[in-house]
Formats: sequence, C-alpha cells, structure tokens
Amino acid sequence: MWLLLLALACDSADSGDSPVQDTDSGPSGGDSGETGDTSDSGDSADTADTADSGDTGEPTPVIVDEPVDVVIVGAGVAGLAAAIEAFEAGATVRVLEREAFAGGAANYAGGLMVFSGTPEQAAAGIVDSPELLAADWPEITGGNPADPWFLYFAEQNVLRVHDWLSAMGMSFTGPMADTPRGSADRIHVPKGGGPGLVATLVAAAPADVITFGATAQSLEVEDGRVAGVRWSDGTDDHYQAADAVIIATGGFLHDLARVEALFPELPVDQLVYGSSPAADGAGLDMLTGLGASTQNMQAIGFYAHATLSPEGEHQELVAGAFGVYPWVGVEGVRFVDEWDFRGFQVGRTRAMLPGGDVWLFADNALEGDDFFPPADESVIFGVDELVASGIVVKSDTLDGLAGDLGLDPATVTAQMAAWNAGGDALEPPRADDADDARGVVEPPFYAVPVVISVAKAFGGVDVDLQGRVLTEDGAVIPGVYAAGELTGMLGGSIVGDYGFTGSLTAVALGGRVAGENAAAEALLR
Ligand SMILES: Cc1cc2nc3c(=O)[nH]c(=O)nc-3n(C[C@H](O)[C@H](O)[C@H](O)COP(=O)(O)OP(=O)(O)OC[C@H]3O[C@@H](n4cnc5c(N)ncnc54)[C@H](O)[C@@H]3O)c2cc1C
Repeated sequence: MWLLLLALACDSADSGDSPVQDTDSGPSGGDSGETGDTSDSGDSADTADTADSGDTGEPTPVIVDEPVDVVIVGAGVAGLAAAIEAFEAGATVRVLEREAFAGGAANYAGGLMVFSGTPEQAAAGIVDSPELLAADWPEITGGNPADPWFLYFAEQNVLRVHDWLSAMGMSFTGPMADTPRGSADRIHVPKGGGPGLVATLVAAAPADVITFGATAQSLEVEDGRVAGVRWSDGTDDHYQAADAVIIATGGFLHDLARVEALFPELPVDQLVYGSSPAADGAGLDMLTGLGASTQNMQAIGFYAHATLSPEGEHQELVAGAFGVYPWVGVEGVRFVDEWDFRGFQVGRTRAMLPGGDVWLFADNALEGDDFFPPADESVIFGVDELVASGIVVKSDTLDGLAGDLGLDPATVTAQMAAWNAGGDALEPPRADDADDARGVVEPPFYAVPVVISVAKAFGGVDVDLQGRVLTEDGAVIPGVYAAGELTGMLGGSIVGDYGFTGSLTAVALGGRVAGENAAAEALLR
C-alpha cells in the first residue's frame, strides 16, 4: 500500500546514547517500525498522485513506500550480493538503483578476481592457501596480513565467493599471474568478464526487488537509529523505511576534486578517469554526514597505462606501446620497470614522481600503434592525430625532442642508448617480455605523456566485521551497514598504499557479509 503524506518539520527526538542525531524533518506518520511485504518495484510515481508544491511555499509531498526489512542503496556487485544474501535469510528486500541498469562499475570491468586455493588452481598444479596469500600480501598490496578483514578475506574468498558463484553456474578461466606476481597465480576471470559476473548475480537476485531510476538522497534517523532512505525517482520524492539499511554506492574517484584534496601535489591535468562514472562519493557523503569514520582514503589504485585523449578533459587512451618503450620522468631519467605498467605499484610510483610529467619515448615504430579508449576499442586514434592535437610531441632528433620537453638532451640520449643496448638499470627485461621491447632508434621520435589513471578506491567507510558502519570512536551507527568499494572494497583496511587487481572478490564478499547481518538484525526487530 502506498501512502501519500506531506513531509512535516518535526523536532529532533532525544537520541540517547546513540552516536547519531535524528534528522530534523521526517515523513511523520509513516509506519516505518513494521516490516511488510517486498515492495512493489514498479514505477511508484504512477501509483500515487503528488501535489506540485511549485512556488506556493507548501511542504514538498513525499510518497511513503511500504516498509521492508532491508533496503539496499546501489545495485552494483556489492548491492546485488547483499540483496541475494538478505533475501535468502528470509528478509524482505528492496534495492534502490540510480541508473537504469544493475552492476555498476563491473559493467566496465574485465572482471579479474583473486582467489587462493581453487579447483582451477589445483587442476593447473598450483598450490595455494590462505597462508600463502598472507605471505604475499605486503608485496602485492602494501597491506597488513594481520588485518582482521584481510584474515577473513584470506579464509573465505574461495568458499564464500568462488564456490558461491560456481553454485550459481559461473565458470572461471585462469588462473593467471597478478602484477606483481605472488607465489601463486591467483587471477581468475569469470565467464563473460565483469558483465558476465553481473548477469549471474542479477539472475540469482530475488525477482523484482530492484527499483531503477531511484536516487537515494539522504538517510533518515529516528530515535538515534537509521530508519530509512529518502529517495527520488526524478519526479517525486519518496521515503523507504526499513529495519536495516545497506549503503553500497561504490567509490568516490570519479570526483577528481576529492582526489586532489587527498593529494594536493598530484598534477591535475595529468589525472584521467579510470573509475566508473557512478563513483561520485554520494554514499560516502551520506554516511560521513551521520558521523561515519573513514580510513585509508589515500590508498587509491593508480594505473600508469594511458595517455590523454583528444575526446575530452581527463579522458584516457591506452595503447600497446605502454610497457614496450622506455619512460622518463624527472630530468629525463628512467625511474621504474615499465614492464609492470599494468600493476598498481608502477601506477603509484608514477603518480608520486616529483615534477609531474612522465614521457614515453618512442621512434617511428609508434606510427603502427593504435590508441583507444579502454571502454571502446573501436574508437582508434593514430599517433599523428595525437601530435596534431598537441598531446604527443614529435621531433626529427632525440636532442630536439628532449629540448622541446625542457629536458637535458645529453641525459636523454644516454638513457635511450642504454635502453637500446638492452641494459636496464632498473630491472633487466624479463625473458617472456624481452622480445617485445622496442628500441628508440629510427626518426622521427615521439614523446607520449604517461598520465595517471585514477582507478580504484581501497579506502572508505569504516565498518566492523558485520559490515556495520562505525564512528570515529568505534561506535556502531545503529541500523546502517556499508559494503563494496564504498568501504575500500572490504573493511577499508585490507591493503596498504596501493591495491590489488582482483578486488571484485572482496566487493562480493563484503556485500554478502552486510546482507546476512542486516537481515539478521532486521528479522530480530
Ligand atoms: C574500467 C574498470 C575496470 C575494472 N576492472 C576490474 C577488474 O578487472 N577486477 C576487479 O576486481 N575490479 C575491477 N574494477 C573495479 C570494480 O569493478 C569495482 O570496484 C566494483 O565493481 C565496485 O562495486 P560496488 O558494488 O562496490 O560499486 P559500484 O559498482 O560502483 O556500484 C554502485 C552502484 O550504486 C549506484 N548508486 C550510486 N549512488 C547512488 C544513489 N545515490 N542512489 C542510488 N544508487 C546509487 C550506482 O549507480 C551503482 O550502480 C574495475 C573498474 C573499472 C571502472
């Protein structure tokens, strides 16, 4: 049953010992304390008339939706995993999703997932275990293997994600090596990649619980407890009461101003979007607005695999050239093992390099390379177009190129001579990659800016091991849970300065944890 009410201003109720204050307006009269049937996921704007307050100064009408046990904001991998888990625990569930589709960032993802100890590894003769993963963890991620959330991840990644997805019919290819390589190959790719993973979760999710085009705007607090979500369908405002609320709205990295605030020294003109457009930090703001604490926010997964695109500011182009040619940074000197360009450690090293500019040096062989946006390999740019648009610098001589970039020609020439001779001062070319190395020999010469792709948030809202949101002093904010990239993939603290490739495993695991605990709490109320 849908109720149409006017939102009335009301005084804050005494919140007692609760760490959160009541919001100062609420959909009073809503029957938010009781659970009801799974909500109708149809277009609620069609089911109730709403008065247009226009310029009359009248209060804005709010449609009060049928209460549910658990409402989840965001239908990405975390939100879908939470919905499946909560529903299977017996809760009535509703998912509010801003977009017209489910899956969030995973729709753009290759879908690489980390598992340690799978049948696929065993079949390939690879020995792996939680202990081996823990031993590798500091090198792979900079993380602390004693972190409680990491220990949970190490113990449960196969059982609660790999085997869970397998039981839904998902199959995996791999295992493949991660970057950097740990003691075991752990990257598994779900069939169909990120979109395949999404399709599997959507098929397993309870029918008709996702409301699309539903933008959560704020959380409602009653008696010191998060009691529901105010949301908009673009026309009307709604209030969805629930006994437990899960926020799974993804990361914050598409808002580059937030990245700048964390790293004021980063060269802003060199930052490109490596995250999903949905990652605007909306859920982060909702929770910090209630006093939620954050942790590890500087643990951002930066990649160095792209250059600027003529298609627009902060857009990226990738090319096979990365990792094939030498890169020079401050004063024209190489600074990293280019072959690891797909990994977060190289991305972070590039991002933190003083001076900002990093150039890939190439010769005329670059003219055979394609540059394309990662999401659409059919949109191809040649190096000539990038020269014409002022992104790539071209010269007939190495000295001239160095001079155009403001670098010392003698230094650059010496660096290129060492590269061409196969001598790698940083790390010798690896046997399996060495054949791909290209010399910088034949004019004309090119310098391609190697920019910073801001890809994954490994810090976020602090949650306890049940997924409950915590304040700065460690108190639980009653009634609200968080999961997914909003929590830095899992728990906000499992990695150090940089991240790890197969974080979708952690996102799915965190969604399950929040879903089961939110349902258990809701069903007890
Ligand atoms: C190009 C790319 C490639 C990647 N490749 C990999 C990979 O190979 N392996 C890997 O592990 N990870 C990869 N990732 C990262 C991974 O996809 C994400 O970390 C993960 O999908 C995040 O899941 P999530 O559910 O936490 O958030 P999201 O997927 O961001 O989902 C959040 C959802 O919440 C919705 N939402 C946001 N705000 C609101 C609101 N106010 N109201 C209602 N709904 C809202 C969004 O529309 C979205 O659907 C990649 C990411 C990108 C962008």
